[in-house]
Amino acid sequence: MNETWYQDTNISHFKNDYTVQDQSKCEVLIIGAGLAGLSLLYHLTKGGVKALLLESNSIASGASGRNGGFCLSGWSQDYDILLKYLSIGSVRELENIASLGVSWMRSKCMQKEYKGTFLGDGVLNCYLTGKVDNIKRQNQLKNSNLGIYDQFISKENLEKIILSDRYLCAVKKENAFHFHPLNFMNSLAKECDLLEGKISENSKLLNYTKENNEFSSRIQTKKGIVNIFSHKLVFATGGYGGNELKDLRKYWLPIKTFIGVTEPLGNRVNKIFKKNYGVSDNRRAGNYYRILPDKRLSWGRGISAFGNISTKRIKEQVSKEIKYFFPQIGGVDIEYVWSGIMAYARHFMPYIGPVKIGAEDKGVFAITGFGGHGMNTASGAAILLSEFFIEGKKSYKIFNNFERKWNGGFLGPYVAELKYKYIQAKDFVDAKRQSKKFST
Ligand SMILES: Cc1cc2nc3c(=O)[nH]c(=O)nc-3n(C[C@H](O)[C@H](O)[C@H](O)COP(=O)(O)OP(=O)(O)OC[C@H]3O[C@@H](n4cnc5c(N)ncnc54)[C@H](O)[C@@H]3O)c2cc1C
Repeated sequence: MNETWYQDTNISHFKNDYTVQDQSKCEVLIIGAGLAGLSLLYHLTKGGVKALLLESNSIASGASGRNGGFCLSGWSQDYDILLKYLSIGSVRELENIASLGVSWMRSKCMQKEYKGTFLGDGVLNCYLTGKVDNIKRQNQLKNSNLGIYDQFISKENLEKIILSDRYLCAVKKENAFHFHPLNFMNSLAKECDLLEGKISENSKLLNYTKENNEFSSRIQTKKGIVNIFSHKLVFATGGYGGNELKDLRKYWLPIKTFIGVTEPLGNRVNKIFKKNYGVSDNRRAGNYYRILPDKRLSWGRGISAFGNISTKRIKEQVSKEIKYFFPQIGGVDIEYVWSGIMAYARHFMPYIGPVKIGAEDKGVFAITGFGGHGMNTASGAAILLSEFFIEGKKSYKIFNNFERKWNGGFLGPYVAELKYKYIQAKDFVDAKRQSKKFST
């Protein structure tokens, strides 16, 4: 058994024996083969730009091949908060990029070469707390502000979809779906390969320098250290990059989240869902779960700014949550447990476009910091950045609204963890209050 359920059900294997040669040259060197880097390679190659993608492990070995598999519009930061700082026009522009990503991902999943993505329609955001009338009104307002159609679902109608009495109501996200992210990434890599977009796995960027308007990047490959020359350098390193990113590393924090997958549940899935939707809840680090094609329950939960939580502990936490929401299914074995790292900036929005830290960084770009909401945003942002490289279009400038903010150095993880614990405690108290209201 592999670490993740996705690895054990990977039917799209991308086979690649290419290793970048010493003294190679390209126009754009992309670092990191997650969804951001790989979809950027795809668009650039299609647009006739000579690009090369390097990955320190194998494609999708970071967050993009081990996530919850939800693809829905929006960003890691809530629109309510974005509206406090930006004009409605700017927030609408962000929504357009977010939904462009959803549509692009969906259209790919529909291609016959992507059949291993097992697309399942529908994602719900379920409310554990709040006032139902307010939630309904806020949803209407958001729809009219952003020109979207997210559907409000009352408790009565929700019971026709999920068999849990914990939720007050839900919002069904327009056009959203769930899928197998690792098979998706493998299919996309194969497509890049057919287009002759070069991917070199086991190739880690160690550092870079700049001379005469050209970057010289030192890369550790299986065959030794090589130097590559490029005019542009793009960091698509997610939460996995280190000091090789130089100053860029100071502007985000790596945050972990965890997934447990149960044994196959057979007919017991009918005691959970009447429709196979993906479900998340309205807490900042709430649960996200769905039924997998072999009738297992995949359950994501929690975040941590510090190292690992033991497998045993994650299993306990996941079992406890499942029991809380679905006591009717009895005890279940958790057969897979894994974690992944996400990159979060303090404002929860990504860095996309030129990095511009010092003169030597002119020509360095970032497409990173998608947090826990990357399946649509990384793919949408890749379209924007490729348009700049191909046509000079500067739509990425919308992201200049989100300044780089220092991550707090060694204190950063402590602050993030404290903030999370505070939010968790608040969610807990609110949920307790809500269930008291139900029982009185
Ligand atoms: C457990 C989990 C569940 C999630 N669930 C969802 C979900 O359901 N829906 C959703 O929208 N989002 C979800 N997310 C978030 C989403 O997965 C990420 O936002 C997204 O995958 C980020 O993509 P990326 O390409 O920026 O980074 P990654 O996929 O992490 O890719 C970065 C790559 O860069 C490589 N790299 C780093 N440094 C170097 C170097 N020096 N040289 C070469 N290569 C390097 C890494 O090896 C890695 O492969 C989840 C994340 C996790 C961890």
